[in-house]
Amino acid sequence: MTNSATSHLLPVFARVDLGFERGEGAWLIATNGERYLDFTSGVAVNALGHAHPHLVAALQEQATRLWHMSNLFRSPDGERLAARLCEQSFADFVFFANSGAEAMECAIKIARRYHASKGHPERYRLVTFEGAFHGRTLGTLAATGSAKYLEGFGPPVDGFDQVPHGDLEAVKKAIGPHTAGILIEPVQGEGGVRTAPPAFFRSLRQLCDDNHILLIFDEVQTGMGRTGDLFAYKRLGVTPDIMPLAKALGGGFPIGACLATAEAASGMTPGSHGSTFGGNPLAVAAANAVLDVMLKPGFFEHAQKMSLLLKQKLASVVDRHPGVLAEVRGEGLLIGLKAVVPSGDLVNALRDERLLTVGAGDNVVRFLPPLIVTEAEIEESVQRLDRACLALSGGALKRAAS
Ligand SMILES: *Cc1c(COP(=O)(O)O)cnc(C)c1O
Repeated sequence: MTNSATSHLLPVFARVDLGFERGEGAWLIATNGERYLDFTSGVAVNALGHAHPHLVAALQEQATRLWHMSNLFRSPDGERLAARLCEQSFADFVFFANSGAEAMECAIKIARRYHASKGHPERYRLVTFEGAFHGRTLGTLAATGSAKYLEGFGPPVDGFDQVPHGDLEAVKKAIGPHTAGILIEPVQGEGGVRTAPPAFFRSLRQLCDDNHILLIFDEVQTGMGRTGDLFAYKRLGVTPDIMPLAKALGGGFPIGACLATAEAASGMTPGSHGSTFGGNPLAVAAANAVLDVMLKPGFFEHAQKMSLLLKQKLASVVDRHPGVLAEVRGEGLLIGLKAVVPSGDLVNALRDERLLTVGAGDNVVRFLPPLIVTEAEIEESVQRLDRACLALSGGALKRAAS
């Protein structure tokens, strides 16, 4: 009997029958002792790998002092984390949440409230993009707009106007007297590592300025170094007004944050939003420790160097196996391999080679190594990919022959 047949976990995930008990850097050790090279990083969460000594020490130290206290009182460590995030970004204010979807909910509420507080409650709609992913709460699900995820959950929350990705004319047409802002991922993660040219994002910024509406960058996946800088907007050279973060912010400890300028956040007053756990001391300690490591000189240079190396090596594997792989795409260490074979088959073949990767939309397999990945680990991953491609093309040849 498989684990899933005996498990009491709500069966909403199609889980692989493989369990892990330990991690070390870019490696995961299975319950049977086998070592897997982890290029899922918990879906872009474990940016510093597993069991990073500085994170372990920070959490252990915090665990002896204070686990939780309410947002009724000041939080010196939370204030320090917020100040550091603002110092490193365009933002003036930070709201702490516990997940990406919650950080996104806060972003939507800030945008709506901004216009309402200026006497325009009718400006509550956001322009969103096909292929987007913003979360699984009812609000963020409506923003995601995927029929597959919405089905059976009643009428979607009102307030989102979805247009084709990268289509500036469609964005212009969608903006009206009801529009509060534009919501976009700098790189679509779940949607298949889909990018748009920097000029598109510059045009969105201009449209927002011209129409006095807000630009929201969902950096839940792209943020915290994933695309080679602390935030993807810095590499794009386009600054948003509101920016939700989560995934890698706590290096594996659940924490989300919504960053905003003072102007964008001007509608948010005491009582207008809240969270019991948001800014929890353990989560804040983890995130402060993540920043300690990421803000050390050379951290992002290393990630960029590894990105270049991985992309070059992946491109040569694509050239060798045109029957299996179509192209390499992405920024930093948010890398997608568009497959010719079904992407799920490639994920399985890679797992057979003890390399863990994540599927995405558009028949893409994501390579999301930790940002601390080494040259040797990248070399190892590429050899495993090469073997998986050989196995897959062998299988294709056999099918063709029979
Ligand atoms: C993962 C993700 C979310 C949702 O985050 P959760 O922590 O799963 O709620 C939202 N937006 C983007 C871009 C994401 O990648």
